[in-house]
Amino acid sequence: MAILSLLFVFVVSAQTPNFNETEVTFRQTLTDLVKAKTVNRPGNEARAVKILAARLKKEKIPYLTMDFDKNRSNLVARLKGTGELKPLLLLAHTDVVGVDKQNWTYPPHQVTAKDGFLYGRGVVDDLGMAVANLEVFLLLKKNKIKLKRDIILAFTGDEESGGAGMRALLKEHPDWISDAEVGLNEGGSPVTDDKENVRYIGMATAEKSYQDFTLTVEGATGHSSIPHGDNAIFVMAQALDRYSKIPPEFRLLPVTREYFRQRAKIEEPELAKFMETIAESRGALNKKNIATLEKYPILKALLMTTCIPTMVSGGSRVNALPPVTTVNINCRILPDESIDAVQKRIEENLGDARIAVKKEGKFNLGDGASPIEGVVPSALKKLSAKYWPKAPVIPVLLPGATDSSYLRGTIHMYGFSPLYRLEQDIGRAHGVDERIPEKAIRRGIEFMYELVMEIGNTSDK
Ligand SMILES: [Zn+2]
Repeated sequence: MAILSLLFVFVVSAQTPNFNETEVTFRQTLTDLVKAKTVNRPGNEARAVKILAARLKKEKIPYLTMDFDKNRSNLVARLKGTGELKPLLLLAHTDVVGVDKQNWTYPPHQVTAKDGFLYGRGVVDDLGMAVANLEVFLLLKKNKIKLKRDIILAFTGDEESGGAGMRALLKEHPDWISDAEVGLNEGGSPVTDDKENVRYIGMATAEKSYQDFTLTVEGATGHSSIPHGDNAIFVMAQALDRYSKIPPEFRLLPVTREYFRQRAKIEEPELAKFMETIAESRGALNKKNIATLEKYPILKALLMTTCIPTMVSGGSRVNALPPVTTVNINCRILPDESIDAVQKRIEENLGDARIAVKKEGKFNLGDGASPIEGVVPSALKKLSAKYWPKAPVIPVLLPGATDSSYLRGTIHMYGFSPLYRLEQDIGRAHGVDERIPEKAIRRGIEFMYELVMEIGNTSDK
């Protein structure tokens, strides 16, 4: 009898992890991380790494920490699988954005539980996902689960301000992560209505890349009382006027086509019909669709590379002819397009060889797109159907860039955090009163655990 019941206990614990305990440790570690105040800049991500490393140490899991600047570190650990399949990377960043000039209801750098939510800077972006990844990783270890893939756990710094952490990791210790085949990072999540019913599951498969260009035109200077035909401000203004009249080039990528198709399932009838029309369109969009698109700037931006002037300067004195005029053009580039091709188009559209177009330092490069079908999308769809049967999985093209952009050339990265968030809360991530629903924690960890098990044992082919 004693042996039987012992056996029973063993079987149960091997199959069902102790999620109650995990919820407690999740909240504690999240609280510690928020308090570590890893505001970038300066970052101080070494404080977060210390907290995370202590949890790994307690379970005797080996890990690598590496400094990429003073008080700034990354952390990587790995759970060995059978080696039958290539590793799965669980990625999150530990820096958070500042709260300057933001009027928070609660102190931003501590966790406050109020009315069913946890408030604090970073609870969504990205400390919540960081801790969810950690908890799942520790559960696998405690339950002695050996998957076909190694599971790589990575925490990077400086994601919010140029990606120095990820770039340093790839440069100095590529062997710790580069053999991964697939990965999960921030970018999408289950999204709910105000009553916390999940409406859809966002899965980011691609990102726009960011690039600035400086336009410069020089003119002959002189006394402003004697104008001539070579005024650098006029030349620039006329070129920008031509540029502003060039119609945008819309095009659908696999990710945006599927986005419109799936999103149509949950929208009001009028918008749903329009989204279906776009999803099924072939070739160039017709005039009517383009006119409708004007009503939806966010949808419109998904279908084009955007390059718009954001700063202008010129002239040196109020009473002198301007020797030079410069303009900054800020581009968000679709993942199928090269920066050089974009530069060429800007030059053509300005239509004036006197204007020099210069590429500024690269901020972030969206390196291609992850396939919208494969082991991760399949696993997400399978588990979503179990957890939230009415909610479609919607592939998303992110308008901004994450650390995934450095990896997409070699690893199929997907933006998915398991913690659901309210649709109305999405703007809080870099804004005021960032929060996660308390009920999302348990659900999120359970979902992530199953997701990692599923991906960890399934081939991408
Ligand atoms: Zn983030």
